[in-house]
Amino acid sequence: MTYFFETYGCQMNFAESAAMDRLFRDRGWTGAADGDAADLVLIHTCSVRETAEQRALGRLAQYAALKKKRKEQNRPLTLAVGGCMAQRLGRGLQAKIPEVDYVLGTAARSLLPSLLAALEQGRKPEAPSGAWAFTDAAPAFPFSPLHTAEPEPGAKTIRSFIPVMQGCGNYCSYCIVPSVRGPEVSRDPAAIEAEIRLAAAQGVREITLLGQNVNAYRWEGLDFSGLLALTARAVEQTPIRWVRFLSANPKNFSPQAVQVMADNRVFCRHLHLCVQHGSNRVLRAMNRGYTREAYLALVEIVRKAMPEISFSTDILIGFPGETEEDLEETLTLMEEVRFLSAYMYHYNPREGTAAYTLPCRISEGVKRERLGRVIALQKKHTQELLQSRLGRRERVLIEGVSRKNADELVSRTERQETAVVPGGAALSGFFGELTLDSLRGNTFRSRDIRILE
Ligand code: SF4
Repeated sequence: MTYFFETYGCQMNFAESAAMDRLFRDRGWTGAADGDAADLVLIHTCSVRETAEQRALGRLAQYAALKKKRKEQNRPLTLAVGGCMAQRLGRGLQAKIPEVDYVLGTAARSLLPSLLAALEQGRKPEAPSGAWAFTDAAPAFPFSPLHTAEPEPGAKTIRSFIPVMQGCGNYCSYCIVPSVRGPEVSRDPAAIEAEIRLAAAQGVREITLLGQNVNAYRWEGLDFSGLLALTARAVEQTPIRWVRFLSANPKNFSPQAVQVMADNRVFCRHLHLCVQHGSNRVLRAMNRGYTREAYLALVEIVRKAMPEISFSTDILIGFPGETEEDLEETLTLMEEVRFLSAYMYHYNPREGTAAYTLPCRISEGVKRERLGRVIALQKKHTQELLQSRLGRRERVLIEGVSRKNADELVSRTERQETAVVPGGAALSGFFGELTLDSLRGNTFRSRDIRILE
């Protein structure tokens, strides 16, 4: 039997799709080139913004039409939906699109083996309610043993995202994640270590510890700084040279975690530290749980411990009630930190979040104009920071052949800077050293590279 996935959203969704892909292959299913060639299509959805859901619903409507057409050709198509939108809408999704056979909530992946077994035997699996929608929380979140994606034919697996926890209990007032991913569930450190070994055996050179809120990691007495120390030990004697983590929350980023990072050179000198806004009034309304001052103090602690570190962040503009002065405070915070890059977006009301009912919504025009100023400032900072790095000799991980030029390789520094250098595909996955000779847009160009390992 054949299958085809479409995955939307965050790294967690892609890591979970990689794990599901392995499950299907281990059961003897084959990946199809596209949905029309598959027996089963699974759409792995995101719910973080309305637009993400609209996109997935659009795709589902297309597959529903395809399913009808194939029925006339006696080529049945099984249509399944997973991820955060499936969790949020549940059976409502089948009311909207009756052609959807299975709705798998965010904790329901553990049901996949029984579902596939039924399909392999040509029968429709029983579901308690009749309509096959399963969004109830499973007893324990089903982390899979390995989340490393199968490489493209001829390519190498270089990086892997390793979930260490899932869910979030912070309830930022604009965010849907806690209601679709549920409370924080941390993963057994022994399983994380086992996955690190499996990834290393696949030749992985860089891992990213993944969670919606990694700092909240707790397993018995082990906290996030303990997990970082465990990871630093686990990658010794392996080909893994770089460790990153995502997403870090300033609310509970401990000085101990900063110290473990500083003491272990395997941790990349880059930190994605979501700030969202620079005004304390707006941070309170967002229920972020920290102040502007606390955020800046944390940045100072990190910079003192690792002066060469670069920062990126998330910035959300146009939250209900935001004033011109509030926006000014975000711009001044950006001036103080000088982020290398940022995900910048404007507020979208999200049903099911606390902010949805807040008064004083900002008009689309004002939101866009303010976001435009934030983006312009970020672009200026990015350029200035990259310009200041010209001429430096840097260690990079070669990620693969440039999509723009087959004679060039794309590489990345530990600070999340991109550098292009002449070279062939055989060098993918190697670490090398190069000089940041020139800058084109936000990408460095180097004349040559010395391979290290
Ligand atoms: S920390 Fe806030 S924004 Fe991040 S996932 Fe949790 S609730 Fe959402």
